[in-house]
Amino acid sequence: RRLPDQIQEFIDGKRDALPQVIETPMLREYSQKLVERLEQQVREVTTVNAELQEADRLKNQFLATFSHELRTPLTSILGYVELLERGTLGALTPMQREAISVISRNTNTLTTHVNNLLYLQEVRSSQLKRAPIAIHEMLQRLLTEIRPRAAEGGVELLAHIPAVTPYNGDSMVLEQSFRNVIDNAVKFTPDRGSVQVILNDDLARLIVQVKDTGIGIPANAVDKIFLPFYQVDNSLARPYPGVGIGLAIVKHAIEAHHGHVIVRSEPGVGSAFTIVLPRK
Ligand code: ADP
Repeated sequence: RRLPDQIQEFIDGKRDALPQVIETPMLREYSQKLVERLEQQVREVTTVNAELQEADRLKNQFLATFSHELRTPLTSILGYVELLERGTLGALTPMQREAISVISRNTNTLTTHVNNLLYLQEVRSSQLKRAPIAIHEMLQRLLTEIRPRAAEGGVELLAHIPAVTPYNGDSMVLEQSFRNVIDNAVKFTPDRGSVQVILNDDLARLIVQVKDTGIGIPANAVDKIFLPFYQVDNSLARPYPGVGIGLAIVKHAIEAHHGHVIVRSEPGVGSAFTIVLPRK
């Protein structure tokens, strides 16, 4: 039997001891071949890795360009819808008013998706633009914005938002992060459920809690929900709108502020998202 075969049998555990006579030149040749094979594999993995990185870069570039291109016409549509809603372009019949309100709602949803795509790229690549923010006012504004959506779905929106001293953060990304978490809570909570938004300030950090009595998240999915495009239910027939990037933005945005997000959830009972933002 060839010595390399015998050594291989030893490595595979098919023989108890190495052959008695190990001829050094043969062993050298054998290890030389092994090294060559390993080097070849490293080269292959490096090439594949570079190709994946390039594909990822192109995907991100595509998302950034595409969302940018979508936002321009959307802004113009929203502007005209607002003029129509306000009656600036003439009085509307009740049926026209109804139609405009459907167009307005759907355009707003579309704008949120497009903004999320843009924010994901921004949060990943650019520096935070920090300035003092009255977080309680930001949360109150968001609740006013989201309340009609909650009411439509029969979800009660409760809040405990005391005034807190200004927080030094990036208002655009923080606002989008809070919006995403509260939007999700409302979206994944069935009729007659409730969503609670609680703000706490322990001087060293701000804590924003969003608790819902919704469908909950299976234990094996809790770690994955922050990955871009991950959704627990990704079937085309799923009843919930969304593209799965809201929480990816939240994670990037909060970690960029040196904070973190804690999720507690029980399927069928509800979820609680806690955003912790250190002041330093
Ligand atoms: P999207 O809401 O657009 O699907 P997100 O990134 O915001 O994307 O959330 C990812 C997934 O995490 C959701 O699709 C859903 O499965 C789960 N999820 C997030 N928030 C909640 C929540 N409050 N209750 C139940 N599931 C949630």
